[in-house]
Amino acid sequence: MRNTFHLEVITPERTVFSDEVEMVVVPAVQGNLGVLPNHTPLMTMLQPGVVRIRKEGEEIRMAVTGGFFDARPDKVTVLADAAELAEEIDVERARAAYQRALARLRSGDPAVDVARAQAALDRAAARLRAAGQEVPGVGSVQKEANHK
Ligand code: ATP
Repeated sequence: MRNTFHLEVITPERTVFSDEVEMVVVPAVQGNLGVLPNHTPLMTMLQPGVVRIRKEGEEIRMAVTGGFFDARPDKVTVLADAAELAEEIDVERARAAYQRALARLRSGDPAVDVARAQAALDRAAARLRAAGQEVPGVGSVQKEANHK
């Protein structure tokens, strides 16, 4: 039995991660999904969130903004729209994106594309979480926007 597997995290722009790892947890649309060596093959869509990788006993975190997850016996792949390792995340940029999206959702302006603003908020929240930052009240924002 192998105790590692090959993980690749790829975006249209670049290969973000490619290495042997012990475990990966991905933000699947149905919730967090953990994969260990010799896992049953599976494919699923991803939502914006944090990918947690365990390599040589250390945790590596990254943000993904959505995409696709493909776990095969020989190789596990995260095909992400965008992905950044925690240390690559520009926290100020993510905070600004978060505040911008929040202001749009709270504006009550009928011209606001709520789904687009919510998606931007979710991407920014994923980046803040991956970078270990507090994310204020994400869950309540959608509810507030719906009540306007
Ligand atoms: P923003 O409004 O700040 O541009 P966004 O969510 O619209 O954020 P994306 O379209 O998801 O940005 O990503 C565009 C590119 O910018 C991708 O290459 C992504 O990796 C990078 N990127 C976006 N936000 C950050 C960030 N906070 N830190 C580092 N890279 C980022």
